[in-house]
Formats: sequence, C-alpha cells, structure tokens
Amino acid sequence: MIQTQLYIDGQWQSPIDQGTRAIVSPADESVIAQAAEATRADARLAIAAARRAFDGPWRQTTIRDRAKLLNKIAELIDRDAEKLAHLESLNTGKTLTESRTDMGDIAATFRYFAGLVASEAGAVNEAPHHVISRTLREPVGVCGLITPWNYPLLQAAWKIAPALGAGNTVVIKPSNLTPLTTHHFTQLVAELDLPPGVFNLVTGGAEVGAELAESLDVDLVSFTGGAFAGESIMKAATGNFKRIGLELGGKNPNIVFADADLDAAVDYALNAAFFHAGQVCSAGSRLMVEDSIYDAFIGRLAERLPRIVIGNGFHGETRMGPVQSAQQHEKILGMVQAGIAEGARLVHGGKRPPGDVFKQGYWLEPTLLADVTAQMKIAKEEIFGPVITAERFRSEAEALRAANDTPYGLAAAVWTRDLDKANRMSRALRFGTVWVNDYHPYFPEAPWGGYKASGIGRELARIGLDEYTELKHSYINLAPKAMGWFGA
Ligand code: NAD
Repeated sequence: MIQTQLYIDGQWQSPIDQGTRAIVSPADESVIAQAAEATRADARLAIAAARRAFDGPWRQTTIRDRAKLLNKIAELIDRDAEKLAHLESLNTGKTLTESRTDMGDIAATFRYFAGLVASEAGAVNEAPHHVISRTLREPVGVCGLITPWNYPLLQAAWKIAPALGAGNTVVIKPSNLTPLTTHHFTQLVAELDLPPGVFNLVTGGAEVGAELAESLDVDLVSFTGGAFAGESIMKAATGNFKRIGLELGGKNPNIVFADADLDAAVDYALNAAFFHAGQVCSAGSRLMVEDSIYDAFIGRLAERLPRIVIGNGFHGETRMGPVQSAQQHEKILGMVQAGIAEGARLVHGGKRPPGDVFKQGYWLEPTLLADVTAQMKIAKEEIFGPVITAERFRSEAEALRAANDTPYGLAAAVWTRDLDKANRMSRALRFGTVWVNDYHPYFPEAPWGGYKASGIGRELARIGLDEYTELKHSYINLAPKAMGWFGA
C-alpha cells in the first residue's frame, strides 16, 4: 500500500495531527493508498519554510542555475515516466495511453520553461548618461499552487516550472482525491540539491487551499479548479492583494457547419467529449450542428457510441475509463436526468454500463442528449463527464450568438471548409482557445486560459512565466547633483 507524506522545509513528515485519507481507485473502489491529510497548521509550516527559503539562499540563484534545475526535473520525469503514468491512471482512472501522453507533455513543459528562463533578460531603458535605468524582472515570492483531480501532475507542471524557473519558492497542494503523482514528483525534487523550503508539498483539502489563499506570507496563488472554489480564493486573496491566477471551468462549444469534412467532424466530436471520460476543462461537450446535417450527424454519433470500449485504463483496448469519484458520478447522472426533464432526448447512455465488471467503480456510458436548446441548464453548466449535448443551429449568426451566450470562455472549435467563415468565427468567439477543424491540441508555446468566468490570467507561453514575476524599474544616478529647487 502506498503511504504518502508531506514535504516541508526539505523534510518528509506526517501531518501534525497525524491525519490520513484513503485514496480510492475509481475503477473498482479499492483503497490504493493512504495519503497524508494536512491541516492549516501544516500549511503554515510550509508557507514559513517557503518564506525563509525565498528571503534566503534561493534569491542568490541565477537564471542559469534555475534553467539547469528545470532541465534536470525534465530528465527525472523521463526516467520515471512509466511509474508516473501508472500512478496517474491508477488514481484518476484515465487510460494508460493518456497518462503516458501527459508525462511527455509534462517533461516538455519543464524543458520549454528552462529555455525561456535562460533567455530571460531585463531591459536597459533610455535615460540621461549619468543614469542607469533598467527594467528588472524579479520573482514574486512565495507561491501557493492549488491543483485539481483531472490532470493532477500536468496542471501542477504548468505552475511549478514557471514558478521555480522565475525564482519563486512554492507550496503545492494537489487535490486530496489525486495526490499520488504530485507526491512522486516531490520525491524526484527531493533527489535534487535544493535549499530546504524551496519546494513544499502539503496534501489536504479545501482548508489547506484556503490557508494558502489567505496567508499574508503568500505572495501569489495560482489555482486550477471549479468556479466555486475559485471565487472563494479570489476573495481570500484580497487580504494582502496577492497576485492571483485562476484556471476555472468551461462550457465549450464544438460547432459543426454543413460544409465541414463530416467524417473528421464526427470522429472528433467523440474525441472532444469523451477523452478522459469528458473530465477535461476544455471538453467539447456542447455540440452545435447546422440544421441541414443535424439529423444525419446525430445518427452517425448514435452508431459510434455503443462501440466505444469502456474499461479499466490499464487494458490496451480501453478507450474510456471511469469518472474519478462517486460524487462526480452522481452529479453527472443528475445533470443527465435534469436535461431529460427539460426536454432533451436521450439517444444513448445516461447510465452505468451493464455487466458485473462495472458494478463497482464510477462507470458511465458515453452519453448523447439530442435536441438540446441553448436555454437549457445542460447547455449552460459544466457537466464534466462523458456527455454530449447536441443543439441545432440555422445560421452562422445564430451559432455565434448561442456559443458566446455562456458565462464561460475557455475553448471552442469550429468545423468548416470555408476559410473565410473559419476566420470570422475564430475572431468572434470569445474563448481563450479556438480550434478550427481539430479539437484539444495545446502546446507549451501557446497561452492557455479563459475569457470571462473561465479564469484570470494565462498559463504556458511567455505570459505563463511573466505571471510569476514582478517588474521593477531600477534607477541609479551615478552623479547626483543638488537641484536647488527649494533654494540653497
Ligand atoms: P475544485 O475547485 O473542487 O478543487 C480544485 C482544488 O482546489 C483542489 O485541490 C481542492 O482541494 C481545492 N479547493 C477546494 N475548495 C477550496 C477553497 N475554498 N479554497 C482553496 N482551495 C480549495 O475542482 P476539481 O473538482 O478538483 O476540478 C474540476 C474543475 O477544475 C472543473 O471545473 C474544471 O473545469 C476545472 N479545471 C480547469 C482547468 C483549466 O485549465 N481551466 C484545468 C483542469 C480543471
């Protein structure tokens, strides 16, 4: 049985009150680990350690030191990629293929930020000749990093790489449902020769996250998760007006025009909605199809859905695993029922798959609800499960209006062969990412984040590093002379 501990001030330790939490496999509900469950008191110790490290030796490191560190972490991720991928699949239920892809992306993220950090340079500003005026980029300080359960280590990597690379110290708090890969990652960091307190792991629930958001000794909090927790973090952060980054949920339209390559569009409608059983913040669960092809499109999806292989993520043929928790399972089924009650037509799914193997665990069939309208709750709220809601639209203007008519703005996709239309839609959709004739690709070089209620700030890309820095104007007068403005 895996037992995890906290990592504070360079030491592995148990929580002060010895709390533990059973970590459960979403595939069969068996207990796979006992994780340390911290409280606010442990979080305070970690914050204090991060503060000391930031105010001490860590500030003396150079960009070269830190670029080297990030590259070293990438090497260790590569070394343990298979172990990490197994842990991720065990804990989240996602297929091993998906977890392996995550590990490749995580190593790439560290390498990308290593390159960026190494190229980081301040600017020398135009100023009188006896003055040196520079714009300096400096670390923000102690960063509290809070991550969700759907992409546990990937989301952590998007935060840790730029935070450490920019010279900050960190306290990371993964979701208490999925701490295993972040714990293993911390073991990798512990192999490195970092000053104590630079990197701290505190596993626990909302109260630990709240301590990070509230603490006056934390200078920046970066959070990925739902809107509810995001709102309370934003409010808590006002105590010292700390920097905040919020990556929240989405309601992401996947818009198919009649002139699209329909073979590809049908196939990608499944990828958009059912990767990781739909538990992706950018999942294209809101399918919108042009009227003239709507019935045929729904018919083609209906043929494909029963053929999706549901099963344990460790089996090679599996394409979709379980959802992550009992709570998610119940919530998704409730939303499907609410959709049917509002008038949506259940085409497929909406229940636990048949068979003994699916009796234990949080299994759901891939689900298609057709004849959804933009006013229905299921077209507006994030479902975060393997559910496609399909709406019909009659014109480009109607599709655009309906797609933008949501509080969220994370990602959208458009399927068409008309380049002019593709460009018009890309510009007019109010989402942080807009794909055309594709779904889901992202790169470390491209910014990730949302408009509107999908969040504040961006991760990845240069801006994803800049968010972890403060800008300073340093002005040095080399030859001061009295001005005499107030007399002699
Ligand atoms: P969640 O909001 O319940 O929890 C996220 C993290 O916040 C966890 O570590 C949790 O313990 C912690 N937390 C909960 N309440 C808190 C509080 N009051 N103060 C501080 N910390 C608190 O989210 P989740 O259920 O783990 O993740 C699913 C959500 O995350 C979805 O809405 C999804 O769309 C979103 N998400 C967004 C992105 C993105 O890039 N925009 C990526 C992945 C997931």
